[in-house]
Amino acid sequence: IPVDPFDLVIFGGTGDLAQRKILPGLFRRYCSGQMPVDARIIGAARSEHDSAEYRAFAAQAIREFSGGRRCEDGTLDDFLNRLEYVTIDARGTDGWEQLASLMRDGVVRAFYFSVAPALFGDLAQRIHEHGMATEESRIVVEKPFGHDLASARALNRTLATHFDESQIYRIDHYLGKETVQNLMAVRFGNMLFEPLWNSQYVDHIQITVAETVGVGGRGEYYDKSGAMRDMMQNHLMQLLCLIAMEPPAKFDPDAVRDEKLKVIRALDPVLPHHIVRGQYGAQDGEHPSYREAVGNPRTRTESYIALKTHISNWRWAGTPFYLRTGKRLKARSSVINVLFKDTPHSIFGEEAGRHANLLTIRLQPNEGITLQVTIKEPGPGGMRLIDVPLDMTFSDALGPEEADFPDAYERLIMDVIRGNQTLFMRGDEVEAAWAWTDPIIAGWEARNDVPKPYDSGSAGPTDAEMLIQRDNRNWRGIT
Ligand code: NAD
Repeated sequence: IPVDPFDLVIFGGTGDLAQRKILPGLFRRYCSGQMPVDARIIGAARSEHDSAEYRAFAAQAIREFSGGRRCEDGTLDDFLNRLEYVTIDARGTDGWEQLASLMRDGVVRAFYFSVAPALFGDLAQRIHEHGMATEESRIVVEKPFGHDLASARALNRTLATHFDESQIYRIDHYLGKETVQNLMAVRFGNMLFEPLWNSQYVDHIQITVAETVGVGGRGEYYDKSGAMRDMMQNHLMQLLCLIAMEPPAKFDPDAVRDEKLKVIRALDPVLPHHIVRGQYGAQDGEHPSYREAVGNPRTRTESYIALKTHISNWRWAGTPFYLRTGKRLKARSSVINVLFKDTPHSIFGEEAGRHANLLTIRLQPNEGITLQVTIKEPGPGGMRLIDVPLDMTFSDALGPEEADFPDAYERLIMDVIRGNQTLFMRGDEVEAAWAWTDPIIAGWEARNDVPKPYDSGSAGPTDAEMLIQRDNRNWRGIT
């Protein structure tokens, strides 16, 4: 179903994110007929270009990054004709009059802030000064949203002087993933899972977001941030919320976000011995170590983090949540594992084997959900038990057409145009997540904590194995 006609301004329209995600994503939506033919995209950035040059830039980005989506002949040219470019300075006066004159009345106006966060306030102010914001306008704000609670609050305040909360779309692209939304469908669309979804039946929950890449060209930014701020405070926290929240009364933005907020507020502070920080070493003389990659031989920033936390409420009291994320690990894998408790008694005897159910929600690669169930091993060998996966992998269940789901960014941008904030973080959620994160980071700083080294291509520091093994449990996914 096509969305309403819109003008989308991409501030930072020549940047890496626009090139790799936003422009190719918009093209894919155009290809699928969801983007109306009279929609317009206006790139706005500091470098000097005209619209023809910007179209050539977009064409190149689409060829390189749109994942080989096949479209009817001529679609790319039609799409490119929807593009304009304005040279603009977020902190100066250049370009603003021209941009304002391009905006049309009677269409949705969306402003995507794909620039450094230090410029968010300037952009909001200038949009306002030049009369471009209507009550219907939306702004899309990229991560990182603040560096700590104080800066996130300040940013929320700045944006709030010009825009209502209902107009602010804080992106966490993990929320745009098909499986993340399917997690809500599985939890709240079936009778099967929800009665068991609590500390009485769930032994523990693991969330792993493992990357094989290092910091790459983002070293300067990353070294001021680290895995806690760059991944844990936002992406893993959001996944934790969706796994742990109470059923909202309806699938509506504030109902969902109210429940997520309650989870964050119920999180226990993390004890120092329940957290492991790591930093990757070099590999085969081919890949630099973290310290080399960021050009700071003394850096104490972590590229890996594993922690254990609890949610202090009726549903989850006593159930540990183990969260870990890191760079330069042995596999690229984002996965949530819900490990159910064992049956209270085995009627088949201990020799038949004991098996607990395991629900695995894979975000990448190969999105899908599997449930390990116990059955009898086929054959005449007596009553021996084995685990088999009930596979809800979408491409198998739905066929390749339906399984070609939009990339997270595509879906989220279309949600912005539709005015649906369900998959975007609300200001109070972000602040609550920082309120939980800040004391952890302050503790490291007070103790001069040094991250544990780990080998590139490994599963992370051995201390992280011990963190979970002390509780007689093991990491799932990458081990
Ligand atoms: P980038 O450095 O590649 O691009 C920055 C863009 O901002 C360029 O188009 C540049 O012309 C423009 N710009 C810089 N100063 C300006 C000014 N004064 N006035 C107007 N335009 C100006 O950055 P990026 O990687 O595209 O990241 C953009 C935002 O998205 C950042 O907030 C970043 O944290 C966030 N983000 C990026 C990625 C990614 O994969 N690149 C992922 C997640 C979040």
